[in-house]
Parts: sequence; structure tokens; C-alpha cells
Amino acid sequence: MNMEMKGIINESLQALNDDESYLPDMQGDDREKAFKSLESILSTPNNISKSFLRVPLENGRVVRIPAFRVQHNNTLGPYKGGIRFHESVNEDEVSKLAELMTLKNSLHEVPFGGGKGGVIIDPREYTVKELNLICKKYVQYFSDIIGPDKDIPAPDMGTGEREMDWMMAEFKSIHPGHAYRGSFTGKSILNGGSLGRREATGKGVYFSFRYMMHDFLKENKKWFRENENRFAQTALDHLDKPFDIAVQGFGNVGSVAALEAFQCDHLQNRVVAVSDRNVCLYNSDGLDIPALIKYTEDHDGALPTEEGQLDDQGIKAIIKDRDELLTLEVDTLILAALEDQIHEDNVEEIKANIIVEGANGPITEQADEYLADRGVVIIPDILANAGGVIVSYFEWMQGRETQFYEEEEIYKLLFKKMQHTMDTILPQFFGDPFPLRQNCYIHAVGKLSEVLYRQGKLY
Ligand code: NAD
Repeated sequence: MNMEMKGIINESLQALNDDESYLPDMQGDDREKAFKSLESILSTPNNISKSFLRVPLENGRVVRIPAFRVQHNNTLGPYKGGIRFHESVNEDEVSKLAELMTLKNSLHEVPFGGGKGGVIIDPREYTVKELNLICKKYVQYFSDIIGPDKDIPAPDMGTGEREMDWMMAEFKSIHPGHAYRGSFTGKSILNGGSLGRREATGKGVYFSFRYMMHDFLKENKKWFRENENRFAQTALDHLDKPFDIAVQGFGNVGSVAALEAFQCDHLQNRVVAVSDRNVCLYNSDGLDIPALIKYTEDHDGALPTEEGQLDDQGIKAIIKDRDELLTLEVDTLILAALEDQIHEDNVEEIKANIIVEGANGPITEQADEYLADRGVVIIPDILANAGGVIVSYFEWMQGRETQFYEEEEIYKLLFKKMQHTMDTILPQFFGDPFPLRQNCYIHAVGKLSEVLYRQGKLY
């Protein structure tokens, strides 16, 4: 996973330390000490809680399932982050994801800290009744550290609104009389979930691309033309031209991002390829994304893999090997499947010069450096895929106010928040030599550090 955050955080701290206008009152030894404190605060979580959930299975066997919750930092607000149910999840991975959440929230000015949870199971091996019990036990074991003002979990890999509903219900039973709707986000609408939460990440992913490569570029084209920066030159090459886009992963994030691109027809962008775990589908004239979504809805989330299946739906596409998608001759890749998809063995074959990270860490560190040297613009996970946590924040607010927003209102608020972040970061990014990821980290670390400083915690 491209989760080697220590390096990028330390580089961000160095850049902030070198910037004399940053925390100007901190000088000499005090400054050295403050930056050392920051390094240790950011590189270690505040708490790691671990338990073995004791679960009686339907076959009569009783198992002990390892589960944990990592609370990285709550300087900016209650800890916030998903709970992952996966057989390979481990404490190290969860800790890094919790750290990413701290910085993602700082970057987008969401008043939450960073947390993450994990349960080491393959959820497909358990019955619904057993999964319900696992969820209840998780809340029972961690009930003291979870809550609307302490730590607010959400879905992640292997969990969804069903699990959040179960967990919220258990929280309510354990803490009768307490406000409970804000204890979990990503719940069903009936249980206080927010309209638009399911679509939020995919919509945000496409918005980050559209805003940067169309609106911001167009608005500032004179400034771009006067700029020597290699990333600005890459962007300029696309001025007023439609994009051919390939989307890896056709689940919650990828299918919504693809649909946004398809529906944004005034820009004439085309989604020419999509892939899932089985197949890549290609059409140089653009794929019929609504028809593909309809197909996946009727087929357990899977794209068609055979010509007959395409013909039956009237979908025109060439079937290719799954991983061919990554090296297609396209302008933009949206990576919305898994981590580590572009790595040292395939990076030299990548043709796209705009890449959007819908998944967390889909590009390895070495590949990231190679692409940045080539002037490829990468819109990183921390910036592009924050739609989920931003709308989770709206869900948490709605739960507290017991007042619910219309779906369109949610998207308006989401885009406004993301645009605010981009308006802050993009002028800096296109004007200096650092890649966008580094710029985002400098900003996120800088914001958090300044709050810690003002709270008198840097000693
Ligand atoms: P999902 O399970 O709904 O969809 C994943 C998709 O990826 C599926 O279409 C699957 O078939 C496909 N896939 C799996 N392996 C593949 C491969 N090797 N090549 C191509 N496609 C492959 O998951 P999601 O919610 O869409 O999340 C996608 C990624 O985005 C995950 O890494 C997740 O952690 C990240 N993410 C999701 C959210 C969110 O709100 N859902 C928020 C932030 C980050």
C-alpha cells in the first residue's frame, strides 16, 4: 500500500519548518522542540484498543475473533473512521488508515479527528445472524470509547449500512437515554442516514477532477500560460479538450464517478473503459454507463463478461483483460478499486497523464515518484475521495439536529467544501515544484499543527 506516510509527513514538517512565515513566534530551540513534538504526535496513535470477540456460531462452535479500534488523533474533534471486516486486516494497516483520516479531515476542515477499526474475518464465511452478533459484540467491547462526541465509526471494506444500523442499535441499548444517532454514520436512511451518502465518494472523486481540469484551469488559463511548472503544462495540454476516461473498479465509488462523467455531457468527456474484478470493457466512442449500472444491479455487482450478455442489453463494448485498463491510451485514469494498482512493474506503460485516486493508496510510492517526475498530475486519495467522510459529517450533524437535508442540498454542501479545499491548495500546487499529494499533506499537517500550537500542546 502507498501508506508510507512517515516519509511524506516528515517532508511536510520539514517544509513547514523551513517556512519562516509559519508559526513565526516559534524560533530557535523552541521551534526545534515543537517540530520534534509534532513528528511524534503524528507518527503514533493516541490509543489502540484490541479485543477478542467471543462469538457462538450457528454450528455450535464458539470462536474468538480479533478486533481493534485505533484512535489516531482527536485534536480537531471526535475520532472518525470506518470499521473494516477483512481477513487480512491488521493493526498496522488500521493505524495507517486512522492517520490518513486525521489528515484528510484536517485538509478538508471537517471537525473530526482520525480513527479506524478492524475485525479479522472474511464476512462471506459467516451467516447473517453471526455477522449481527459480531457487530453487537464489537460495540459491547468498545462501548466505552465509542460515541457521538468520542469516536464515530462508519462503514469500510466488508461493512455497510446494515452493519451500521445494527451497531447503532446496540449502542442505543448500552447507553439508554443518550443521543445515539450520531454514534455511527453510513446508516440506512430509515435509521438516520444521510441522503447522498452512498454516492458521496464517487461524486466527490469526479468533482475533484472536473473542478481542477475544467473550471479552475479555464478560470486561470492566463496564469497557467505564464507558469513554467511541469504540472501546469500537463494541465494546459488539456485546456478546452474533452477527456477520454478509464475507470478501474465499478463498485460504489467507480460506478458513481463513471456516471457523473457520463452525465456531465456539456464537457463531452467520454468514459471509454471500465473494469471490475473480472473484466475490462472498452468502447472508443464511450460506454453506456447507465446500462452497465443497470446490469450490475441485476447481477450482484458484476459487469458483463461475455459478448452474449452485452448483446442482450444492447451494450456496445470490446471485452479485454481486466488489467489492460490501466495501460490504455486515455487521458485520465480514475482508480476506484484497490491499493497498489500502479506499481514499478506497470508504471512505465501508463499513458494517462491525469490520475484520480478514488481508492486509498492505489499507487505505490515508487510509481508515484516516477509519475510525478514525468509531470503526471495525480489527484491524491486525501483530496479526491473525501466525499464519504464529508457527507458523514453532514449525517452526524443531521443526527444531532434531527433535521434532515434534501439530497441536492447535500451535494451542494459537499462540492462547496471540496471546492474550498481546492481553491486553497491548487494555486500553491501549480506554482511550486511539489506534487499535489505533498501540497495536500503540507496543508493538512500545517493546519493541525497550528491548532496544537494554539492549544499550547507543542512542548
Ligand atoms: P466496492 O466493493 O463497492 O467496489 C470495488 C470494485 O472494485 C468492484 O467493482 C470490484 O469488482 C472491483 N475490483 C476488485 N478488484 C479489482 C481489480 N483487481 N481490478 C479492477 N477492479 C477490481 O468498493 P468501493 O466502496 O467502491 O471502494 C473502492 C475503493 O475506494 C476501496 O479501496 C475503498 O477503500 C475506497 N474508498 C471508498 C470510500 C467509500 O465511501 N465507499 C471512501 C473512501 C475510499
